[in-house]
Parts: sequence; C-alpha cells; structure tokens
Amino acid sequence: MTPPAPLVQSRKVGDLTIHAIQAGGIRLDGGAMFGVVPKPLWEKRIPADELNRIQLGMRCLLVEHPSGLILIDTGAGNKEAERFLELYGIENGGANERTMLEDGLAELGVRTEDVAIVINTHLHFDHAGGNTFRDDADTIQLAFPKARYVVKRGEYDYATHTNERTGASYFERNFMPIVKAHKFEFVVREKEIAKGVRVVPTPGHTPFHQSVLLESGGERACFLGDIAPTHAHLPLPWIMGYDVEPLVTLETKRRILHQAEQEEWLLIFEHDATVPWGRIEHDGKNYRLKPD
Ligand SMILES: [Zn+2]
Repeated sequence: MTPPAPLVQSRKVGDLTIHAIQAGGIRLDGGAMFGVVPKPLWEKRIPADELNRIQLGMRCLLVEHPSGLILIDTGAGNKEAERFLELYGIENGGANERTMLEDGLAELGVRTEDVAIVINTHLHFDHAGGNTFRDDADTIQLAFPKARYVVKRGEYDYATHTNERTGASYFERNFMPIVKAHKFEFVVREKEIAKGVRVVPTPGHTPFHQSVLLESGGERACFLGDIAPTHAHLPLPWIMGYDVEPLVTLETKRRILHQAEQEEWLLIFEHDATVPWGRIEHDGKNYRLKPD
C-alpha cells in the first residue's frame, strides 16, 4: 500500500483560503474502522492489506484567516517509538522537517511559530500527537510555540480520566506540556473562535468531540474530524468500532449530514487517504459524495 498523497491541496471557501495538509498515513483494522458493517461490504470501498488493515490518512487543515493562521488537528507527531508506529502503520516522517505536517507547512511558506490558533477536534494520538514534539535533546516542546490550543473542556477531562477501553488513545505528552504552558483555551459547547470559524459539538466518537464549521461569503465547510473519517463513512450506520458512544455518533451524523446536504456544505474528511473534501447528496437510501 502506498502512503496517501498529495501533501498539500488548497481551495477557497468564500473569501477564506484553506489548505488540506496530509500529515501522514495510518493503517487501522478495517473491521474496527467500519464497526458492524460486514467486510464484504466495506472492502469494496477500501481494500484491506494482509493484516486486514486499510490505508488511511491524517489530514490537517490550515485556514488562512485575516486574524491569523488557524490549524485544525496536528496528526501523530514525532514522539512515538518504532514499535508503536509499526503497529498502527503510521508513516509520517518528514522529508525535511520533523513530520509531514511541518513539510506541508513549509511548502506553504509557513513556519510553526506563524500559527496563531490550533484547534483539536479531540485529543486522540492521531489528532493531537503533533501538538508537541520531541527535540534533539529528547525534550518535549510545544510544536506551535506562539499558538493557543483550543479543545473542549469535557474532552480534556475525558483524556485525563481514562479507563481500560479509552486509555490506549490518550498520551499525556500530547497535551500536558500545553497545560503547563497555560496555552490551552478550554471551550464548553459551541464557540466562534475567529470570525466565521466556529467549533461545534459533534459527540459520539468521544463524548466531547468537536467539529469545525467555516463560513465565508455565503459558503460553508465543515472539518468533520472522526464523525465521518472518510467518504466511505457517509452512510449513517457506517460507524467506527472505536467510537465510545456509537448511537450518539448516529444521531450526530443524522443531524450534521442532513444540514450539510441541505445547505451544500463542503465536507472535509480527515482520515480519507485520497478524497480531501466534497459535497454530498442523498440517493434515497444513503448519503454519498456528489460528483463535482
Ligand atoms: Zn482519528
């Protein structure tokens, strides 16, 4: 399997310029990615490797906002051991920089200290791993030293009170250095972070998962996060086995995808290896991508 490409894809949402940055590949168990959906159905959409894993990406979004650069999610970072990377099929090493995320930013002429706001949809390692990095002296540093990091208060509490089922996805090294530096902005429910950039609660994958809604010049786009990680997850019951509240995900998807279809939102897929974004239609049974 080949890691996802290209590194950077850009477009407009109204007056805003957005850049999808492919922060690396990750291969997860196909059965876990599609929950109750039988393999003969899901493998037609995304084929599995010999270990039953499917190729996914870890797409982040950079928004050029008049008030400063906003980065949504940060990939898996550079702090994990080789064994861990192999287990999850993570391929995110940078060609020139520490990970592919920084490669993508460099390609856009952006330095890490230029990022004003980082938004985390949630704090799982494949979304918040790049919040911090391990330097040459083996010290963990903030990856975006001038940024404030926006996360839901409830998600932070959830990440710091794990149990046997949830603990494997949360590593303190991805968020504790930010707490210590007083760089977190904890939000409760919905909030406009910058004009036209709004975090909205989309619970289910985790109880306090959030998505990011962009609005400019009459256009809307939504960075979904893990409520529909790929375009193959558009049918309502195609829900990940990783979700801690799958029936809550179902109702979140029902609400968000209905509004997205009605209002012709551009949906941005974080884990899709090939399709960065698209608008959707309902074919009478399921939601699917609308041909461009
Ligand atoms: Zn994820």
